[in-house]
Amino acid sequence: MRVAVVRETREAEARVALVPELVAKLTAVGHTVAVETGAGLGALADDAAYAEAGASVVDDPLADAELVLSVQPLDREAARRLPEHAVTVSFLPTALETDLVRDLRDLGITSLAMELVPRISRAQSMDALSSQSLVAGYRCAVVCAGLLRRFFPLNMTAAGTVPPAEVVVLGAGVAGLQAIATAKRLGAVVKAYDVRAAAAEEIRSMGAQAIELDLPTLEGAGGYAREMGEERARLQRELLAPYVANADGLITTAAVPGRTAPVLVTRAMVEQMRPGSVVVDLAADSGGNVEGVVAGEVVRIGQAQVWGGRNVPAQMPGPASRLYAQNVVNLVALLAPEGELVLDLDDEILAGACVTHAGVIRHEPTRVLLE
Ligand code: NAD
Repeated sequence: MRVAVVRETREAEARVALVPELVAKLTAVGHTVAVETGAGLGALADDAAYAEAGASVVDDPLADAELVLSVQPLDREAARRLPEHAVTVSFLPTALETDLVRDLRDLGITSLAMELVPRISRAQSMDALSSQSLVAGYRCAVVCAGLLRRFFPLNMTAAGTVPPAEVVVLGAGVAGLQAIATAKRLGAVVKAYDVRAAAAEEIRSMGAQAIELDLPTLEGAGGYAREMGEERARLQRELLAPYVANADGLITTAAVPGRTAPVLVTRAMVEQMRPGSVVVDLAADSGGNVEGVVAGEVVRIGQAQVWGGRNVPAQMPGPASRLYAQNVVNLVALLAPEGELVLDLDDEILAGACVTHAGVIRHEPTRVLLE
């Protein structure tokens, strides 16, 4: 297939969907790869590196593209320039991109959304939610350590003993566990909480203390968390307040798929934190786990600095792109194993990821929302 890699146009997006090291994975099976001029610059991959890897570097790769790879969805103008029957692979948050999804349907484009790849064992190598959460979780812990003007580790010196910092992590999915692991490696004492029962064991396996609250767990379908009722949320906040007050660093990563992030920490709870404490909210883009957080900014609440994550994986664009590109290349191997499109929509992975195909919205929740 003629594969196009576009330069990302959305604000604050520095990643690229294919890195030079992986171009050969596509050309080896017969694809040709056209990369838009400057597409990799944000991730420190220059045009020469793509050319050396066997791609062509062009100003408009969309004109004759059969398969378009990007991180963020194309903008509507770019989508309208796609040849009929083209296939797009990108993140595609359908509830936020309703006009684009309608355009893709009406244009007869086949669109695959990376966040809809089912989380089954066979699709693990295509799981871009996990790969990008890993980057985000690491980044959160490092940002927390950087903003905190004190040591993470215990230091025993001739001049006296410096106690370690205490870090509390709320939400222990992929990102939270990576934040725990990173904070532990830096030497902090880490405590963590998640509403899922299975999370306590995972938290302990990272060497952190699992915070146990006397509350029912909230395990939903597919191992994801369910939304909390208001009374449950209030009780959880009440029970977590002393842990938050005692933390030097608080990292929140809690999400409920497809919904606004739950507010786990109120402004009043942050106001109880000690001078100089730091709050890092990974969920700021989807409303925030911390009341008063602003995505992309550091705001002051009480005596704490509160950092609102904004497209956090893109803040480490090199490794995030490398991992995302590997996820995409693995999906392309399923989509076109020998260089030609074989769109087997009976395949659970492709069926799950497909948003639009042949003039129809195939992703049921999106169809219900839009039609
Ligand atoms: P996510 O990004 O959707 O959410 C982050 C975490 O926040 C989750 O652990 C969730 O339980 C937690 N959370 C939600 N509401 C909360 C609340 N009110 N208080 C505290 N914590 C709250 O999660 P994720 O990283 O995508 O992982 C979610 C699940 O999916 C986990 O069970 C994980 O093991 C599983 N998973 C499976 C696969 C696979 O099978 N391939 C891959 C990745 C993750």
